[in-house]
Amino acid sequence: MLSVEEALEQIMSYVNVLEPESRRILEAMGQVLAEDVYSDINVPPLDNSAMDGFAIQAKDTKGASAASPRILKVIDTVIAGSMPKLEVRPGTAIRVMTGAPVPKGADCVVQFEDTDENARKPSLPPGTRPTEIGIVVQHTLGDNIRKAGEDISKGARVLSKGKIIRPPEVGVLASVGRSTVQVIRRPTVAVLATGNELVNAGQPLPPGKIYDSNSYSTAALVARYGGIPRLIGVAQDTESSLTAGLQRGLDADMLITTGGVSTGDYDMVKDMLSTQGEMTFWRVRMKPGKPIAFGTIRGKNKDGTVRNIPHLGLPGNPVSVMITFELYARPAIMKMMGKQNLARTTIETILEEDVTNSDGRRIFARAVIEKRNGRYYARTTGPQGSGILTSMSQANGLAIIPEDREIVRKGETVQALMLNWDE
Ligand code: AMP
Ligand code: MG
Repeated sequence: MLSVEEALEQIMSYVNVLEPESRRILEAMGQVLAEDVYSDINVPPLDNSAMDGFAIQAKDTKGASAASPRILKVIDTVIAGSMPKLEVRPGTAIRVMTGAPVPKGADCVVQFEDTDENARKPSLPPGTRPTEIGIVVQHTLGDNIRKAGEDISKGARVLSKGKIIRPPEVGVLASVGRSTVQVIRRPTVAVLATGNELVNAGQPLPPGKIYDSNSYSTAALVARYGGIPRLIGVAQDTESSLTAGLQRGLDADMLITTGGVSTGDYDMVKDMLSTQGEMTFWRVRMKPGKPIAFGTIRGKNKDGTVRNIPHLGLPGNPVSVMITFELYARPAIMKMMGKQNLARTTIETILEEDVTNSDGRRIFARAVIEKRNGRYYARTTGPQGSGILTSMSQANGLAIIPEDREIVRKGETVQALMLNWDE
């Protein structure tokens, strides 16, 4: 039986980074940049005002104070988005709004608060502006001027290949005028549940049947980690039904089945794999999730040529599905997307109860992890049956009990893999 690390290594050796595609910048969120992005322009394009105020020459403010304002003639107004028509000369000022290009001749901007504008207003007819302004604070060269190219200079590389597109990157791309960008495409993951007992949510539940939750939790995980989930339905517990079901997913980048891999019905997946592809491994020393299988299924490319599609045969129990997905499908999807940092955050936590380990497998115990007095504590969500799906909803992490420990006692430190943790 493989260790968790060996199983992961095998799976990762069968998945590759996908090709780039062109996406509109907002739709590229969460994808990995497949090009270096250079700017054709300066950002900002021109020197512009950082304040609402007056563009002037700094030397005209020498010695200015409230008691001794420097009076300048206001010759024009420039708003953001238009170009100045006049030049600032000694003794003159041009009223400018934030973002307005700085007029020629000006070397600083004095914000309204540093002028006597408010004091002048009451004596003016409504809707008019003073033709003179008193500067009441001395200013120096460059004050309140944002220099052309101070954010991005023309020709500079603004984003590098491999960067994940997050909101700041979307903004930066827009700021240099890019509406589309090359990113690694998202993998399509086809999800097939197996089991004669399964009924789709929304239908009546006949006796002896259960609702199929695995298709939905798996598809939700695919979406959460950046893939495109495709539900391809439910297969009955026969090799022919499974094979027929998988036909619907043969153009996907990865296939995930759930169920049909435990000892009782393992042969179904094994038989299917032997005719439709090749099995790489079955069973991993972990709990829950031991009967996971992995192999490749012969699929087809768009041009009809044969392609081996990685196939994860997840167990049937709903908790095992989610935990094996976290450990194996998540990094596989992220690798296909071109991501580099594939490991989940793990932290040291103090166990708040004894956890026993009966058969030398690594236990991933659903746990609630809390910070108290600067340390992290982990308590289990209670009964750890792999059918208790609500426990996954309570847990924010998985406390890891090593395979070589028969018992880990309350108060001991263990690693916890964080599931609901800011990434
Ligand atoms: P299996 O490995 O196929 O025998 O499944 C193990 C257990 O998980 C059985 O109790 C199944 O009823 C349950 N199970 C299998 N598939 C699903 C599913 N899609 N949704 C919910 N429970 C399932
Ligand atoms: Mg089954």
